[in-house]
Amino acid sequence: MRQMIIGNWKMHGLLQTGAELAQEIGAAIGPISDARDVVLAPPFTLLSHLAPLLARHGIGLGAQDCHADAEGAYTGDISAEMLADLGVSHVILGHSERREHHHENNALIRRKVQRAREHGLCPVVCVGESEQQKEDTLAQAWLAKQITECLPRDFDGILAYEPIWAIGTGKAATQQDIESRLAFLHDALSQHLETDDKSTRVLYGGSVKPEDAASILAVPGVGGVLVGGASLSARSFLGIAQAGLPLAS
Ligand code: PEP
Repeated sequence: MRQMIIGNWKMHGLLQTGAELAQEIGAAIGPISDARDVVLAPPFTLLSHLAPLLARHGIGLGAQDCHADAEGAYTGDISAEMLADLGVSHVILGHSERREHHHENNALIRRKVQRAREHGLCPVVCVGESEQQKEDTLAQAWLAKQITECLPRDFDGILAYEPIWAIGTGKAATQQDIESRLAFLHDALSQHLETDDKSTRVLYGGSVKPEDAASILAVPGVGGVLVGGASLSARSFLGIAQAGLPLAS
């Protein structure tokens, strides 16, 4: 299965700086995208601005959230249909920052997943345990609950394993931890999904840097990485995206 590299720009980037960053990444992405799928998720304000540029370079256009309802009186919100209308291909849902700051729960995320699918968007659903839940039994129960409650049984999107304690902290999970969590998640997915589909892509996210990307991408079961902070520099994002490929020297 091809691995996927997603850059989550969070609330960073203006018209000019965003276009410069996307352009720098786009100019060097050719040989990488022969081997891996690359998606950039800028803030909503840059989606239509960057859409043609990213399309020209074969980079997917991602959004960072969508509303659960089709339309309505929701001041400040963005619907899945609006995203599809702009050419968005992927939407990150249930990111821990939205769970924390916007009080999103599993039931709401499941509705967003369904809405995204209805409009042809590929949901990238984030799950992950907190520092307090790091111990195996607690973490597994929490992750299993997130899977069964966030994902409809006919889910055909992407899962991102993002331990909360690793996000933005500079402290990525170890290869062994990622391997055992991913084995658990793949198992939980095949029990939950009606398709018994072992091919769901499961990404790792949490302080991925160019220095450790090759070893993370080599972990069995890793379908790619979701990159936050390091996606804000073309050099570090490209370093991650090409890590471990024969073209990297
Ligand atoms: C994220 O926010 O999804 C993320 C992985 O952030 P960072 O790479 O900065 O830890």
